[in-house]
Amino acid sequence: MSDDLKARILEALRGVPSPLGGSDVVAQGLVSDIFLADGKAFFSLTVPAERAEALEPLRRAAESAAASVEGVTGAMVALTAERRPAPQGSMPARRAPAPRNAPPAAPAPRRASGPAGISGVKHIVAVASGKGGVGKSTTAVNLALSLAATGLKVGLLDADVYGPSVPRLLALSGRPETVDGRTLRPMSAYGLKAMSIGFLVEEETPMIWRGPMVMSALTQMMREVDWAPLDVLVVDMPPGTGDAQLTMAQQVPLAGAVIVSTPQDLALIDARRGLAMFRKVEVPVLGIVENMSYFVAPDTGKRYDIFGHGGAKAEAERLGVPFLGEIPLEMAIREGSDAGRPVVAADPGGAHSIAYANVAAKVVAGLDGAAAPRAPAIVFE
Ligand code: ADP
Repeated sequence: MSDDLKARILEALRGVPSPLGGSDVVAQGLVSDIFLADGKAFFSLTVPAERAEALEPLRRAAESAAASVEGVTGAMVALTAERRPAPQGSMPARRAPAPRNAPPAAPAPRRASGPAGISGVKHIVAVASGKGGVGKSTTAVNLALSLAATGLKVGLLDADVYGPSVPRLLALSGRPETVDGRTLRPMSAYGLKAMSIGFLVEEETPMIWRGPMVMSALTQMMREVDWAPLDVLVVDMPPGTGDAQLTMAQQVPLAGAVIVSTPQDLALIDARRGLAMFRKVEVPVLGIVENMSYFVAPDTGKRYDIFGHGGAKAEAERLGVPFLGEIPLEMAIREGSDAGRPVVAADPGGAHSIAYANVAAKVVAGLDGAAAPRAPAIVFE
């Protein structure tokens, strides 16, 4: 059934001319695997990075061609730059997140030297930032909700053990119950499964966690929680790129990392450190999100690039990592966070939700893209 739908989507895409040579986008080999979830089609078009902006009309044409196919309720297309060879010894082949009615999730893949996966959780994606206050937690929550809106089963793990904010962002309180006296049942909000150290300790408890305690808390929140089955577990990492973060990145079997940055140069320096950290532990960087990118005045609709918008995009290009999109500085985003009603849940069709949905589509495409068979890497000792 879904194969038939994919074939019909491909057929429709053959009607989209390729501006990069070849008769159409399919013949030119630009179309990635098509991934279906709840009647929506997700795929990417591979284009040269420097032409991504100019090829926006192509993206839209592919989106409407796919959406016009009978049985398809929507389409989300991302432009992705040509993939560079993976770093040595990086991830094994991974599969795309499966739609809601897919068979039970298989155990997560395991890196040769990395930590074991969580049974029943397909992909673990870290959301990280070089420093605090850039909107990492806000992005993690809204990204998780956008992924869930596509029909994926999504969990959110607040690994920011020093300053957990997921309980506040999702207006969750109380303590999680145990399933069998040991395993914790995750809390749930807006269709997400969620777990945070904030549920396990009193709010007044000072967060003076020593390294090993942090690690055992994290291990518990990953392995002693009834997460399965999940397509994606989004992990809100603690800010920064120190030893604690490095250890954490090593402890969690990550499929990829999303780095959140504001446009300021200083933040970008921090973001670069984040990038280096994930490269060190051989976790693929799915891309950079520019948060608080620009401001649209609510009264005049005029756009202000108050923070020097575009820095993260230019930096992403320079560093050869995908740019996942920009999120405006917006009162509704802040108010939604403070009220425990994230903007993607409060206003699912709104412009801000669409901005997050575009980021989510690129994250899915990034996870999906890594599923392509790759020649074994030759490692020189
Ligand atoms: P971090 O996790 O990086 O410390 P938070 O997600 O807690 O950052 O965000 C810091 C503050 O900025 C919060 O008050 C949050 O509501 C606000 N914020 C985050 N992103 C945006 C945005 N795009 N527009 C407006 N406010 C934002």
